[in-house]
Amino acid sequence: MDFITLKAYAKINLALDVIGKRANGYHDVRMIMQTVKLYDKVTIKPMTNPDIVIKTNLHYLPTNENNIVYAAAKLFKETYQISDGLYINLEKKIPVAAGMAGGSSDAAATLWGLNTLFETNIPMKELMELGLKLGADVPYCILRGTALSEGIGEILTPLPAAHNFHCLIVKPPVSVSTKYVYENLDLNKAENHPDVDGMVEAIKTNDILGITSRLGNILETVTLKVHPEIEDIKKTMLSYGALNSLMSGSGPTVFGLFDDLSAAEKAFYAFKVGPYGKQTYLTTFFQ
Ligand code: ATP
Repeated sequence: MDFITLKAYAKINLALDVIGKRANGYHDVRMIMQTVKLYDKVTIKPMTNPDIVIKTNLHYLPTNENNIVYAAAKLFKETYQISDGLYINLEKKIPVAAGMAGGSSDAAATLWGLNTLFETNIPMKELMELGLKLGADVPYCILRGTALSEGIGEILTPLPAAHNFHCLIVKPPVSVSTKYVYENLDLNKAENHPDVDGMVEAIKTNDILGITSRLGNILETVTLKVHPEIEDIKKTMLSYGALNSLMSGSGPTVFGLFDDLSAAEKAFYAFKVGPYGKQTYLTTFFQ
């Protein structure tokens, strides 16, 4: 095989709860993860020269060890003694630093692609364990689909495919530091823990309103205070007929779930011509 191109899909959180903080600073979470069909493209081509060369369409992303794709390629090469160099082209579409696990998904696609390209036949479970060294969400990005994520994100329970909503994604042009959000979450005061177990049941029984009524993200308490436009986007989505809307991850991306395609399209076009138009997407769940 000369080269391989992979789709690295984004995720949203249908529910995100934080239940504790570990001494090492990591947080224990309970999250319902859902892959959506918004993706980056990762193309990998082996080279005789032993270097790892990264090219990307986003000029502000690092192309050295600080790009998680570089780190994933280096880890795979070292772990499985691959001497070839790699030329990797990263075509970003997933909003960056947005709560959609874009980097984690690029890393997952890189590991998966290298396993295919070099015919190393590493079982998925081992690939997920390797991915955890790169980031807590990487194992999930290898698994994909609908899943309950616990521990620091590495304990994964696959769930049946959730109802396939039309999913409107809007990323306002503000930067949110995941570190800031977690550090400013006061677990003693937080009252709005989402009903994660109820969400699992609603997904298992395909209870559409059971799912949408339980959308919840404990991190909203922190991020919304700093970026009130997130609340405005959520409300606008509801006014266009979204069954519900929520911030994904630590934000600032907001998603709205629609059952009615024409309502979703009307909302999409309204956001497209507004101030957040550049990063507005209408997609569906990856199942
Ligand atoms: P998560 O949902 O896991 O918190 P995120 O959406 O908040 O992910 P990413 O888009 O993965 O965050 O990127 C966060 C930071 O990592 C960016 O500021 C960026 O500079 C750096 N980075 C390194 N590699 C990548 C990559 N391949 N894609 C995007 N960002 C990357």
